[in-house]
Order: sequence, then C-alpha cells, then structure tokens
Amino acid sequence: MADRISKDHRKWNMSRIGSKNTGPEILLMTEFRKLGYKFELHFSELPGKPDFYFREQNLIVFVNGCFWHRHTGCKFAYTPKSNTDFWNKKFNENRTRDLRISSKLRRLGFHVYVFWECQIKNSELRTRKIQALARKFPPN
Ligand SMILES: [Zn+2]
Repeated sequence: MADRISKDHRKWNMSRIGSKNTGPEILLMTEFRKLGYKFELHFSELPGKPDFYFREQNLIVFVNGCFWHRHTGCKFAYTPKSNTDFWNKKFNENRTRDLRISSKLRRLGFHVYVFWECQIKNSELRTRKIQALARKFPPN
C-alpha cells in the first residue's frame, strides 16, 4: 500500500500532456461509472481531445495537472528555480491553449468543467465536486 501511494504521488508532478489514463483519471472514471454515467475518453473529434465527453449531458470534463496547467494558488503549481524563462514561456503556452480550447468548446455549446489533480486526490473534495456536477447534469 505504501508503495502504491508513493507511486501515485510521484505521478502527480509529472506531465500528463499526451498521456492516457493517469491515476486521477482512473479515479474519476470509476466514480462516474458508479453514478451510471456513460462517457467517452480522450474524445479526438472535439477540440483539445477532452478527457471525458458525456454525450447525453453535452458535458466535457478535463483532468488538469496542477503543475502543467497552472492551478491558481495551488502548491503543485510551483515554478522551477532554474530555466525560469523557459518554464514561464511553456506555462503561458499551456494556459493560452487551455483557454482557447475551452472557449471553442463553449462556443460549440458544451458545458466545460475542469477537475484539478489535487482536487481528485482529496477524496472529500472529489466527492463534493462530483456530487455538484451530478446535481447539475444528472446521469440518464
Ligand atoms: Zn492543484
């Protein structure tokens, strides 16, 4: 168990850009399934290849890593001390891209939600966020 926890923790700070089915995503997937949702993962026909696409609810959920996607006020969204210019440029690109994609999706009529990795990791927060979502967009 201890080994599992440290492994998950290590994954936390790693990039999940382009990666599939990370720990937090699997956690969300399990909970959405339990609630009876039907969804598609990494739906490539929509801008940004959303992590979760709920066709019946017209809903999109992104799972964002706090470090790469710059979760405001989050301790995981630190800036490395060396190569600061490089990192800031990279972070700005990511942020601009995220904004562009979510506004594109909203213009197409989708509801767009972001679950941050640190929120998913915290089971209380995760449950609260999922419940709020399920009240607004109930599973069919
Ligand atoms: Zn965070």
